[in-house]
Amino acid sequence: MPSFKDLGLCNNITEALKDLGYTKPTEIQELAIPQILGSDKDLKAFAQTGTGKTAAFSLPILEKIDLNSSATQAIILSPTRELAIQIAKNIKEFAKNIKGLNVVAVYGGANITNQIKDLKRGAHIVVGTPGRTVDLINRRSLKLGEIKWVILDEADEMLNMGFKEDIDQILDVTPDKKQTLLFSATFPREVEAIARNYMFKPAEISAGEKNQGADTVEHQFYLVSERNRYPTLKRIVDVNTGIYGIIFCRTRRETQEIADKLIQDGYGADSLHGELSQAQRDIVMKKFRTKKIQILVATDVAARGIDVTDLTHVINHKLPDQLESYTHRSGRTGRAGAEGISIVIVTNKDKNRIKQIERKINKKFVQKEVPSGKEIVGIKLMQYAEKIKAIKVNEEDLSDNFEEIAKDLKKLTKDELIKRFIYNELEHLLSYYQKTQDIGADTGRERVTDENMQRFFINTGKMDGLNPARMIGLVNDYLGKKVDIGQIEILKSFSFFEIPKEHTEDLLKGFEDAEFNGRSVNVEKTTQPKTRSRNRDRGRGRERNRGEKRRSGGGDRNRSSNSNRDRGNRSDRNRGGRDSGFKRRTEKSTRRRRRRSEE
Ligand code: AMP
Repeated sequence: MPSFKDLGLCNNITEALKDLGYTKPTEIQELAIPQILGSDKDLKAFAQTGTGKTAAFSLPILEKIDLNSSATQAIILSPTRELAIQIAKNIKEFAKNIKGLNVVAVYGGANITNQIKDLKRGAHIVVGTPGRTVDLINRRSLKLGEIKWVILDEADEMLNMGFKEDIDQILDVTPDKKQTLLFSATFPREVEAIARNYMFKPAEISAGEKNQGADTVEHQFYLVSERNRYPTLKRIVDVNTGIYGIIFCRTRRETQEIADKLIQDGYGADSLHGELSQAQRDIVMKKFRTKKIQILVATDVAARGIDVTDLTHVINHKLPDQLESYTHRSGRTGRAGAEGISIVIVTNKDKNRIKQIERKINKKFVQKEVPSGKEIVGIKLMQYAEKIKAIKVNEEDLSDNFEEIAKDLKKLTKDELIKRFIYNELEHLLSYYQKTQDIGADTGRERVTDENMQRFFINTGKMDGLNPARMIGLVNDYLGKKVDIGQIEILKSFSFFEIPKEHTEDLLKGFEDAEFNGRSVNVEKTTQPKTRSRNRDRGRGRERNRGEKRRSGGGDRNRSSNSNRDRGNRSDRNRGGRDSGFKRRTEKSTRRRRRRSEE
């Protein structure tokens, strides 16, 4: 493996790298540095986050830049201000032994006047977000007429974020003769189009398969029902006692909600998203960097450019819409050769995306069981015991009161004392896991009892054309209002559903005269415990027999008449009928519903 010196870098630079702890080049550096040093050709580089690409493109530029000229010679475009700041900071560190080199970062959300002043003082290298760069070009504060290098960093992300026009505008004001370096983790059509339009016969390099991030990251997933997403997240955090990680969410709202819940539940967490001001972001990032908080809840965009190298975990609260973003997310951990874990919480609905990601990253996910309350409590107790053992006591601090306290506590045995200490520290956790049921994998059949929900049996099932959407419609219809519907289990000839307990009476009344596909519907409260659906089908002999009878006693005819009715209902819907597809309701229930909706 070559050294940085072997790649053609001068002592000034290699010494600075040594100080930064860069002992040997990463794969992308080994490929890109000699290529850029030795050739004026444009370059298309496939490189993921965390592979060391900042040094890969900036070191050869530092090597070749002309310090006798004060003109801006390199413009580096990056998708976010965090990343732009980070790149500028890295370059300054690489160039600490290069006297007179100026690097300026320009980005939105910060005072433009100061940035104009910085540019006036002379900037050999400018790192900018596309929007602010265009703004400064239009104000004639940033002149790109003598540009020798254009670097498009995380090009796919810039295009995802809608910077295409800005990039076009910037590239248009640069000279024809220049070297364009495009770094991207993925090459969708739009990135290829940029490469086609603005690059001439580019050289191509790829450090995709062997990047540090992917190699040292273990990918895990938890399959749970939708409403167990947050409780599962909590358990993952609880069980990983030394966690220092980012929880990724898809939207700002989701980010804020999850962070608020975690804070409320006593975790050291905070949120990072686009609605925060730059000052607020800086405060959050400072808390995270200094480990005052262990968990950062962030959107993909906000987390870009966060250069925290020792993250233990990345948790995908929900998977990103674009699978490419998963690579970016998981690349936040396992950096610079360290071990990392990337966790995904999925439901039955999105579990097939795990397979797609596996194909994309060429690695297998490990399915994990949600830790039981007992396990978590055990871990926390041991952790607390370790903490107590490690406490260093300064005798002097206690000298005044110790005897008195010791005398008072002597009435308790050693075991009683230990139990009370534990309780004092962990009461909240102990009682939480005492009350809460364990979370099983969401097989679509098993359920987790929620103490606030009431479970109901209904004598209709798949054979009657019932499906979850229709079940929701049916419940809302007969209840006359929209309520949270919990677990739904549709079996062959009967089904189960849950709604919040407070609506129990209304629901039973609402269903008094109900019919479904011409058959009277019977709804009963049930407390039936968690079982597999097949067993339950067997257990409910009455309903099963009814189903069997229907099928054997001219079942085909009945079934076809059922499906005719179904079709009839569907066309009702098309004519503006209610979308649950359920026939009729008695005058009584209609009156009741009207009354309710007017209340
Ligand atoms: P980047 O992909 O440029 O964001 O780099 C990812 C992380 O790896 C950063 O924290 C860099 O400081 C670090 N890094 C980059 N190159 C090396 C290297 N050759 N040796 C050790 N760490 C590196």
